[in-house]
Amino acid sequence: MAPETPGPGNQTQETLSNLLQEKRRFAPPAELAAAANVTAETYAEAAEDRLAFWERAADRLTWAQRWDTTLEWNPPFAKWFIGGKLNVAYNCVDRHVEAGRGDVIAYHWEGEPDGDSRTLTYGDLQREVSKAANALIELGVAKGDRVAIYMPMIPELPIAMLACARIGAVHSVVFGGFSASALQNRIDDADAKIVITADGGYRRGAPSALKPTVDEAVAACPQVEHVLVVRRTGQEVAQTAKDVWWHDLVERQSDQHDPQPHDAEDPLFILYTSGTTGNPKGILHTSGGYLTQTAWTHDAVFDLKPEQDIYWCTADIGWVTGHSYIVYGPLANGATSVIYEGTPDTPHRGRFWEIVQKYKISILYTAPTAIRTFMKWGDDIPAKFDLTSLRVLGSVGEPINPEAYVWYREHIGGDRCPVVDTWWQTETGAIMISPLPGVTAGKPGAAMRPLPGIDADVVDDQGNSVPDGGGGFLAIREPWPAMLRTIWGDDQRYIDTYWSRWEGIYFPGDGAKRDEDGDLWLLGRVDDVMLVSGHNISTTEVESALVSHPKVAEAAVVGATDPVTGQAIVAFTILRGNAEEGDDIAAELRAHVAKALGPIAKPRQILVVPELPKTRSGKIMRRLLRDVAENRSLGDVTTLTDSSVMNLISEQLPSAKSDD
Ligand code: ATP
Ligand code: MG
Repeated sequence: MAPETPGPGNQTQETLSNLLQEKRRFAPPAELAAAANVTAETYAEAAEDRLAFWERAADRLTWAQRWDTTLEWNPPFAKWFIGGKLNVAYNCVDRHVEAGRGDVIAYHWEGEPDGDSRTLTYGDLQREVSKAANALIELGVAKGDRVAIYMPMIPELPIAMLACARIGAVHSVVFGGFSASALQNRIDDADAKIVITADGGYRRGAPSALKPTVDEAVAACPQVEHVLVVRRTGQEVAQTAKDVWWHDLVERQSDQHDPQPHDAEDPLFILYTSGTTGNPKGILHTSGGYLTQTAWTHDAVFDLKPEQDIYWCTADIGWVTGHSYIVYGPLANGATSVIYEGTPDTPHRGRFWEIVQKYKISILYTAPTAIRTFMKWGDDIPAKFDLTSLRVLGSVGEPINPEAYVWYREHIGGDRCPVVDTWWQTETGAIMISPLPGVTAGKPGAAMRPLPGIDADVVDDQGNSVPDGGGGFLAIREPWPAMLRTIWGDDQRYIDTYWSRWEGIYFPGDGAKRDEDGDLWLLGRVDDVMLVSGHNISTTEVESALVSHPKVAEAAVVGATDPVTGQAIVAFTILRGNAEEGDDIAAELRAHVAKALGPIAKPRQILVVPELPKTRSGKIMRRLLRDVAENRSLGDVTTLTDSSVMNLISEQLPSAKSDD
């Protein structure tokens, strides 16, 4: 492919190179296909009349008043199901009880300390959510008020979210690993008047305090009137005048609360993006469209059978995956889910598989970062557990390397479970691109096709579709029900970030390619694309090539300025537990990449590092590695899990320095 105008400043002039070739295919299991919730016809039906398709999906919900207009689209502002009224909490809880399913388990909760578990039926949930809603009302929370939630993974977290939804308050869940200043910024940005938290939660075998962080944040937030505190660990906590114990206030409330209908377009929540690319954005989601798409996709993509399946999404509820696929989608569908409080290596590295075995989990949804960690720990660990209950496996958060996909399929899925690689983001609210487990013959590493009702495309700089076999930008051409409505309090940033690249087309910020069969592959963030000798090369493809080497567990690559090639590829790799770090490992890996992808993709430099910088949601932060590779001082590190990692990495590069 000949570049038009080579040079580092012109990355957008050329589409992305398509280097990785993948021949493996996995057909859907016959039994699953025969009974699948969604079949191939649905694509055609949705293509024929997209709005009618979404209306049918919305009819899965219970509306107090049906909508009169399905979509009002004043680009880039969308409204869905206008005139419709519903109560999201009623849809997630009460209606199942009214349908006679009050004794069905909504959540099996598994605490990190051994033996610490709790079950909540839909009936229990109805009572608990009603009590919490009454408590919030007593604290003066009214419809439209914002409530910040900073909690461990305990049942009171979804209960608090549903209590907000029930009374029309807007929750803003802040991941429990964030610092006081990050929490304070988010409380301020949303102007929250109540904070719900806990004394702490269990992490890695010990109580980990949350309340001191809240105290520090709230000390600088005079608009916060009350802090509602769940006692989880029993740690000693300092009391402030704003504190109210959950067990004092919530426990004495009536367990009856009459849910009022809210407008389909009333705000449901604000959620800040995970901060991989920089300053997080407060993404605003509303009610009717969001619940429609989360419920439909949860049913379709996981082939959920609520009467039989036990479903587990391992994400933290503090991220969008937890909002949509632990709380709203599964509950709207009346599913039985597992929630786990702790980490995968406590008290031992088989904890996840022990949980799958204990609850006979049939659908598992996790992230590539976790899968790569399990690969690194070794096949023998999952092999010790009975994982035969599993039937569908999902992945989300980053591109899944083909090697990780195949490992997941084989060692977790026993070679019988389809893997659904689901692409979406905080902004999209729900899954957008994914295989359907009963329809799609999956390719390792590919997200395959836009779901029915979604108009996603791969385009060039001008917004024109690239041909099969071409690479470019992911783009979404038509509004979808769960789309963000704006960035909280900043319509201009909403327009600039997502709608300014092409007229009327949504730009998610990710690179993608469409292969010769027309299937989609996600290639990482556009900001991370490397321009080497006039070729735009995605980080994902080079990383996947490195991970396909038996000695490599994880890899992150970045483009660093190079006098000859414009940019050159610098790779940071973590070796597998059993790999020897010989003298020639760099040469071996460079040759391996050149063989897999062609000489153009050969890294200039390969560094073996002990860790990679990751966000608190577990994603690799390449922008920091770019700073290291180019000897710059580090950019914003506030969303990094562990900033000492950067020092460890810098030590591998004698000339690099870090000011963190
Ligand atoms: P920020 O926007 O603050 O940088 P973030 O993009 O990491 O943070 P999220 O909304 O949690 O925050 O993540 C969405 C992004 O994750 C997508 O835009 C994409 O880059 C990546 N992603 C998610 N799922 C997949 C997937 N299945 N394949 C490839 N990439 C994925
Ligand atoms: Mg993002």
